[in-house]
Amino acid sequence: MANAFCLQAIRSKILNSKPTPFVTNQADADKIMSSILLPNRLVTMISTIVISKSKMHLHSAINYIANKLKTKRMKKDYKRVIAILVLILVSSFGFSQTNEINIKFIGNAGLYLTDGKTNLYVDFPYKSGAHKYMEYERSELDSIKDNSIFLFTHRHSDHYSKKLLKKLNGKKFGNWNPEELKNLNDSIPDFSIDAIRTSHTFTFKHYSYLISWHGKKIYINGDTGDVEPLSKIQDIDWAFVPYWILSNAKEENIKIDAKSFGVYHLYPQQVVTGEIPDHILFLKEQNKIITIPY
Ligand SMILES: [Zn+2]
Repeated sequence: MANAFCLQAIRSKILNSKPTPFVTNQADADKIMSSILLPNRLVTMISTIVISKSKMHLHSAINYIANKLKTKRMKKDYKRVIAILVLILVSSFGFSQTNEINIKFIGNAGLYLTDGKTNLYVDFPYKSGAHKYMEYERSELDSIKDNSIFLFTHRHSDHYSKKLLKKLNGKKFGNWNPEELKNLNDSIPDFSIDAIRTSHTFTFKHYSYLISWHGKKIYINGDTGDVEPLSKIQDIDWAFVPYWILSNAKEENIKIDAKSFGVYHLYPQQVVTGEIPDHILFLKEQNKIITIPY
């Protein structure tokens, strides 16, 4: 969250509040760099580094550039360069910083989770606006990373779109192949997904998931109103649940052992009233980013 805030500040300062496009190639990086009137050679150098060293630690990337700054003019630009580098690293590679799991709320129960290496989409892509739930921008689909993992709780259109999914490469898991998650878990270090069969009034097959990643536990509830499976898991770091899970838990007097809750699957116009405790985040704002350091 701090990152997103900082990014916003840098963005408005340097680019006069204009939104920055996502940068994934050299030409785009060059374009952005030249639009802020840096000397040509520096433009090329920085954008090359940004592209080629995307996995470099930010700190070493900055030092690397600082060492290359020879002329006075360049030195003068140093501060700006750092700000720009941060901006571009963060916006183009999303969340390439280390030791953080970043979770972006896309809409409905749609989440994008990444540690900078593995990209996981949950209940996304869905059909934008299905059942009067949240819509999302077309760019959301375009920005999906190659070879991502897609995980679905069930196949209702506010969670899943067969048509959109078909166009994407990557590994796809849902209520049709939960047993295949084992192969996935074996292939990625420090990462596993447990599928938990849960009930949903309108579909026969619904799964909730426990994601264990870098020692953190992230629970994905989906649509189920059944609190029991969730209540059996200890020491959850973030539980993503619809609001009815919280009300059911209260009514049935069931305790959920989670440090934080992300309440998703709200209608766009849904109003949240009353006092909200600090550990509960109502996900009304699309593109909101939750950071879990590990
Ligand atoms: Zn739903």
